[in-house]
Order: sequence, then structure tokens, then C-alpha cells
Amino acid sequence: MSKVDKLLKSINTFIQKAEEEDEEKLIDILPDIPELDEIPGLVEEFEKMTAKLLRQQRKLFLDELKAFIAKDDSETLGSLLNYFQNDLFAADEFAVVFGVEAALFLTNTTSSLSKIIMESIDKDVAFNVLSKRTTDWIESWSEELAEIMKLNTHKAIETQLIEAINAGESIAQVELRLKDLPQFDRKRARTTAITEVLTASSHAQFESYNQSPAVTGKQWKHSGYAKIAPRHTHVLLDGTIVGVNEKFDVDGELADYPRDPTLSAYNRVNCHCAMGPVVDEKIIGLSQEEKEAIRQEALQELNA
Ligand SMILES: [Zn+2]
Repeated sequence: MSKVDKLLKSINTFIQKAEEEDEEKLIDILPDIPELDEIPGLVEEFEKMTAKLLRQQRKLFLDELKAFIAKDDSETLGSLLNYFQNDLFAADEFAVVFGVEAALFLTNTTSSLSKIIMESIDKDVAFNVLSKRTTDWIESWSEELAEIMKLNTHKAIETQLIEAINAGESIAQVELRLKDLPQFDRKRARTTAITEVLTASSHAQFESYNQSPAVTGKQWKHSGYAKIAPRHTHVLLDGTIVGVNEKFDVDGELADYPRDPTLSAYNRVNCHCAMGPVVDEKIIGLSQEEKEAIRQEALQELNA
């Protein structure tokens, strides 16, 4: 197995273990690869930050709920639902703050992983900067992710309120429902952090292959996992090679890599497929100057 394949396998093993053992400290399940030392710390920090923002969001809604009843105790659950939909959801700043933090996390992890992936492909061509195409992608995906998470929370609150109205519950019961909402809990923060480190890892590969002159293509590798039935199309894709900037065809959906956020949830969620570089040894053998010139040309295109 080549150095880069070994490295990518270790990254995937780490993420898989992190997903399966939700109580373990990330640092304890790190494979024995010194280059990866930084990653668990980054993921843990992001998980903590996300958990904190979710707690703040819960507190905001619960405080507002209490203030709303305190003002007038004859308020009905119907008017409370209106208040959430028309005022509170608009005042929720979760997406703004989380979007900024997610962009920071993705920038740090993508840079850190690109550095070790490029080094493992060809140490003559070291990583030094993310292309504009990647920083643009990080910016737009962070915003989109933040928005999706926020809407998901609002939708869950709405559902709880409507259920409470239909069941004729009291305000105290509604308060309990909101307190216990899984959208606010630590598990969601952890799942988000793990999913996004996977995304960063894929994107770092995409970036590294683009910046590494010796990489001429990318290969899809199917990988299952015990609890999930393999998706037929992902199994069929195993071994498929496309150009670095060509897309994989997953069930008619186009993707730059496994779990590409452009894929539908069906093809993204719980997918443990991997990707590897196709390396041209002749290009590895070129002089450092020649390879650097090829990289600069590629970067110019990515920055255009
Ligand atoms: Zn898959």
C-alpha cells in the first residue's frame, strides 16, 4: 500500500471509530500517525463550540417562552406558536454565529489535512495555501450548513408545539418538550463535528489532488460498515476512476467525492466510501522546479 493510501485509511478509521463510540475521547481513538495529532483537538473544539451554541439557542427559546407567559397568563398555545414563528425564529442568531465558526473549523481542518495528504503524495510539492475555489466553497457550505441546522431546529420546535396543541397540553408540558429536544443536545454537536471532519477530509483530498502535479485521477473505493446495508450504486462505483476535476456519477447525481454536500441525503448520510489518488510515477520523477511550475499553473486556474 502506498504512503498516501495508508494515510487516507488511517483518517477514515479514525472517523469511523469516532462515529461508533460516542462516549470516547477523540484523542484516545487516534490511529498511531503523528501527522494526524492535530485533528482530534480540532474536532473536539468544534464539537464543544457547537454544543455551546445549541445550549444558548435552547436558553433563548426557553427564556422567551417564560417571558411570554409572564406577560399575560391567558395566552394560548396557538398564540405562543405564532410568537415563535413570527418573532422568535427571526431573532435566532444561531446560524450567523455557527456559520462563522464552521467556516473557521473547515478552513483549519482542510488546510491541516491537505498539508499531510500532499506531503504523503510527493514531499517535493508541499502544501502552502488553499485555492480560492476551496475557500469559496468553505464560505458557501458553512452558510448553507448553518441555515439547514437552524431550520431543522425551528421545524422541530414547530412540530412539538403543534403536537402539544393537539393534545391539549399545558405550557409547563411544552416547556418540558423544548427542554428535551434532541436538536439541542450534545449528540447533535458531536454528529455535526464528525460529519464535517469527513467533509473536510474529502475536500482536502480534492484540493491536494488538484495541487499535486503527479495526481492524474481519483478513484472511488466502496467501504461498508457493519450496521448499514451497502448501497448498490456505491458498490458498483468501487474502483471507478475519473479525472481529478471530473465528477462521479452516483445514481445520476454528480459528486466530486463521496459524501459531497451536493449529493442527496440518501447518498450522503452514513456513507463510508473513500477516495484515493491515481499517481503518475513519471511525474513524481520530475525535478522539484518542474513540479512547482505545474502546481502554480493549477493554482492559477483554481484561483481564477
Ligand atoms: Zn458509500
